[in-house]
Amino acid sequence: MVRGTYFVQTWGCQMNVEDSEQIAAYLEGIGLAPATDIREAQVVLLNTCSVRKKPEDKAFSLLGEIRPLKESRPDMVVGVAGCMAQVRADEIRIRNPHVDFVVGTAQVATIPGLVEDALQARRFQKRLDLPERKGAIVTDLPKRQVTQTAKLKAFVPIQYGCDKFCSFCIVPSTRGRERSRTTSDILEETAALAERGTKEVTLLGQTVNSYGKNLAEGNVPFSRLLRLVADVPGIERVRYTSPYPRDFKSDVIAAIRDVPQVMEHCHMPLQAGDDGLLKRMKRLYTVDGFRQIVRELREAVPGLGLTTDVIVGFPGETDEEFEGTLAAMREFRFDGAFMFRYSPRPGTPAAELPQIPFSVSKARLDKLIETQTAITLEINEAQVGKTFEVLVEGTSPKDKSMLQGYSRCFRMLHFPGSTELVGRTVQVTALRSHLWGLVGELA
Ligand code: SF4
Repeated sequence: MVRGTYFVQTWGCQMNVEDSEQIAAYLEGIGLAPATDIREAQVVLLNTCSVRKKPEDKAFSLLGEIRPLKESRPDMVVGVAGCMAQVRADEIRIRNPHVDFVVGTAQVATIPGLVEDALQARRFQKRLDLPERKGAIVTDLPKRQVTQTAKLKAFVPIQYGCDKFCSFCIVPSTRGRERSRTTSDILEETAALAERGTKEVTLLGQTVNSYGKNLAEGNVPFSRLLRLVADVPGIERVRYTSPYPRDFKSDVIAAIRDVPQVMEHCHMPLQAGDDGLLKRMKRLYTVDGFRQIVRELREAVPGLGLTTDVIVGFPGETDEEFEGTLAAMREFRFDGAFMFRYSPRPGTPAAELPQIPFSVSKARLDKLIETQTAITLEINEAQVGKTFEVLVEGTSPKDKSMLQGYSRCFRMLHFPGSTELVGRTVQVTALRSHLWGLVGELA
C-alpha cells in the first residue's frame, strides 16, 4: 500500500472529467488520499485535452511549473494522461524529462501500477494501446470503479471513441474506434449510483445515440437503453450527450417523447449552417436534414431546450458560408450554443488545408456570439411567468441565500429557499431572466 497524497488536474470535456474520477478512484485504491494543493501532492496527474490548442498549451505550461517542484522533491511522481498524452507522448517526454509516465485514454486502469513502478524503479514508461475494433464484437472494456461519493447528478459513459472521423476532430485518434459498454454494465453502475442517492444520470458518448453496435449480446438500440436506464429504481431524470444528428432515428425520438424520466433537453451539434462546409467537415448530414430532426424533436417534445456547438473559421470558410451559419442560428433559435474558432489539430485532414486569417475568424466568432446572445436573451425573457420543475442542487456560490438547480429543459434557476430542499424536486416560477438562466420563486 502506497502512502501519500495525489492531485489530478483536468482539462477538457465531460468524458475527461469522468476519466479523472476513475483515476482518483484507482489512486485511492492504492492508499493515496486527495491533496488540496498540487504543490503538496506526492502524485500529480495531468489529464489533458487535445480538442483545441489552448488546453494543450496550458498542460505544457503546468508541466513547466511542476519541474522545479520535482527537482526539489525527487520522490514526487508526475504522470500525464488524456488525449494529449495519447497523441503527443514522445514530445511530452522530450520537453519534460521530469515526467515519470504517459498514459493513453484507454489505459487508465494501468495507472496504479505505473505509480508504484515510478515510486520504486523511477524509470519512464508509456502505455498508449488503444483497443482495435475492426468491426468485431466489443469485449473487455475495463470495469468502471464506482466511486463512493454520493452524487445527486452523475455522468455514466456508455460508449468510448468515435467512428465518424469529422475532418477537424482529433477524437478518433485520441480515443479510438467506437466501443459501447454492455447494457448490463451500464445498468449495474446506474443502480449502484441510485442506491447512493443519484437522481439524475447523463449518458455520455461522443455520438451517444449511435450506442449499442458490436455488442456480444447483439445490437442494443439507444432508444432501448434510454428506457432501461429510466426504469432503474430511484432514477428520476435521464439526459444524454452528445447525439450525432444523423443518428437521431424515429425510435430515439419516440423514446424521448414517451419516457417520462428522459429530460426535455437535447444538445445537438450543428457545427456549420452551410452544406458545402458540412461536407468539407465530413459531417454526414445537410442543413435540411438537421432542420427535419429539429422539427421532429420539437413536435415530439413541447418545451424542448435545444443547444448546440458551432465552429467558425473552418479552412476555406467563405463569407457566404459563414452567412449560412448565421442564418441557421437565426432559424433554429437554439436556447444556447458553445461557439468556437476553428483550431487546427495536427494529424487531422483539415489541419492540412489552407487556413483563414485569425482576424477574419475572430470577427466571425464575435458576430456569431453577438447573434446567439440576442437570441438566448429573447428566449429566456419569454420564460418569465412560467413554472418549472427544478432538481435542487444546493446554494448559489455567489449568494448563499439562493438555491439553484436545473429545470427539465436544462435552464438554470436561482430562487430563495431552505437548504432542506437540496436533493428534492420543486416547482419554481420564473420572475426574471438573464443570459445564463432565470431567477424565480417557489410556486
Ligand atoms: S462525431 Fe466528429 S466531432 Fe464528434 S467526436 Fe466523432 S469525429 Fe469528433
